[in-house]
Amino acid sequence: MRTKPPTAARTSRNVALELGFRRCAQDLRGLLLTTPLAWLMVGWLCWDRVPMERLGGWLGGFAVSWMIALLLLTLLLRLPSPQRRRHGWLLHGAAALDGMAWAAMVPLLMPDKGANALLPWLIVLLCGGAAVTAPIYASYVRAHFSYLAGLFGVLLGHALWQYQDLAHLSITLGLILFLVLLTWHIRRIGHSAEEALRQQLKNTAQNERLAGLLRVARRDAETDALTGLANRRLLDSTLSSRWQVGGLNDRRERPLSVLMLDLDHFKRVNDTHGHDVGDQILKAFAARTSQQLRKPDLFARYGGEEFTVLLPGTDAPKALVIAERVRAAIAGMPLIAEPPVPITVSIGVAQRKPNESTEALLARADVALYAAKQGGRNRVMLAE
Ligand code: GH3
Ligand code: MG
Ligand code: MG
Repeated sequence: MRTKPPTAARTSRNVALELGFRRCAQDLRGLLLTTPLAWLMVGWLCWDRVPMERLGGWLGGFAVSWMIALLLLTLLLRLPSPQRRRHGWLLHGAAALDGMAWAAMVPLLMPDKGANALLPWLIVLLCGGAAVTAPIYASYVRAHFSYLAGLFGVLLGHALWQYQDLAHLSITLGLILFLVLLTWHIRRIGHSAEEALRQQLKNTAQNERLAGLLRVARRDAETDALTGLANRRLLDSTLSSRWQVGGLNDRRERPLSVLMLDLDHFKRVNDTHGHDVGDQILKAFAARTSQQLRKPDLFARYGGEEFTVLLPGTDAPKALVIAERVRAAIAGMPLIAEPPVPITVSIGVAQRKPNESTEALLARADVALYAAKQGGRNRVMLAE
C-alpha cells in the first residue's frame, strides 16, 4: 500500500515547487524579452526567400502572442506568492503561446514544395530555439509540457495537413524526435534542480536553527544566571576589546569611569533570612540599579554580592553623581517587600587616567570601595 510522505517532506516539496515555479516564470519573462533578436535573425534569413506577406504575417502574429505572453507572466509575478501557483495557467498559457508562435514558422515560412536553402537554417533555428528555451523550464518542468504542446500541436497539425508530402512529414517527425529527447533530458535536469532547491531550503533552515542556538549559547555564556546582568566574562572581554591601552576609545581620549559596588553586611542578610531571600535581594538590586543607568553603560556582576558598572564617556564628577543616585535608590526603600530587609551599598568610583591599564583602573576603584567600607559603608568614595 502506498503511504503518504510525512508532512514536513510534503511542505518542503511544496516550498521547492513554489520557488521553482517563480524562478521559471521570471526566467521565461527574461527570455521572452530577448525574442525580438530572434525575429531579426529570422527576418534576415527569410528576407529574399519568403514572400513578404507571409513573413509579415508570422512576425505580426508572433508579436501579438509575445505581448500577451509577457502580460500573462507580468500579471503572474505581481500576485502574492501563496496565490501564484493557483494561477499556474498564466505560466502554462505563456509557455504554450511561445511554443505555438515558434512552430508557426513551419507552416508559414517554410516553402510549400521541395527543399531549398532556407529549410535547414530554419530547422536549426527552431531546434536551437527549443534547446535555448529548455533550461528555463528546468526549475518547473510541468510548464515545459505546455510549451511543447503548443509546438507539437502546430507541427503535427501542419504535418497532417501536408500528409502527402514525405519531405515535410519526415522533417516534422525529426523535429518531434528532437523535442522528445530534449524533454526527457529536461525532466532529468528538472528533478536534480528540484532536489537541489529542496536541499538548499533544508540547509537554510538548518543554518538558521544553528545560528539561533549559537545566539542563545553566546548570550548564556555572557549572562549571569541569577540576575540576568552581564557576567565577569563579558565585562573582561569588553574592557580588553574596547578599552585597552592604545585602542580606539583611548586614542579618541574618550573618558571612562567605573563603579565598584558591594552590598553592605550581606553575609548577615543570608545568615538571618536565608540564602533564598539573599538571592531575591540580589535580583532586585540588579533591577533597581539598572533603572539608574543609561543604555551604553555596562552593568556586570563581578562575583558574589559585588558588581561593576562601566560608564563610557563619563568623567569622575558625573560618575560620582550617578553613584550617589544608585546609593540613594538602594538605601531609600527595601529591595523586596517580604521580608523588608533594609539594604545599603558602598561604591568606589574611579576615572581612567591616560595610559592606565583596565586592571589598574579596577584596582583603584576597588581601593575606593574599601575606603567607603572603612568610612562606615552606605557611601560613595572617589579613587585618588
Ligand atoms: P561587607 O559590608 O564588608 O561587604 O560585608 P559582607 O557581609 O557583605 O561581606 P562578605 O564578603 O563577608 O560576605 C559576602 C556574602 O555574600 C557572603 C555570601 O554568602 C554572600 N553571597 C555571595 N554570593 C551570593 C549569592 O549568589 N546568593 C546569596 N544569597 N548570597 C551570596
Ligand atoms: Mg558585601
Ligand atoms: Mg564582598
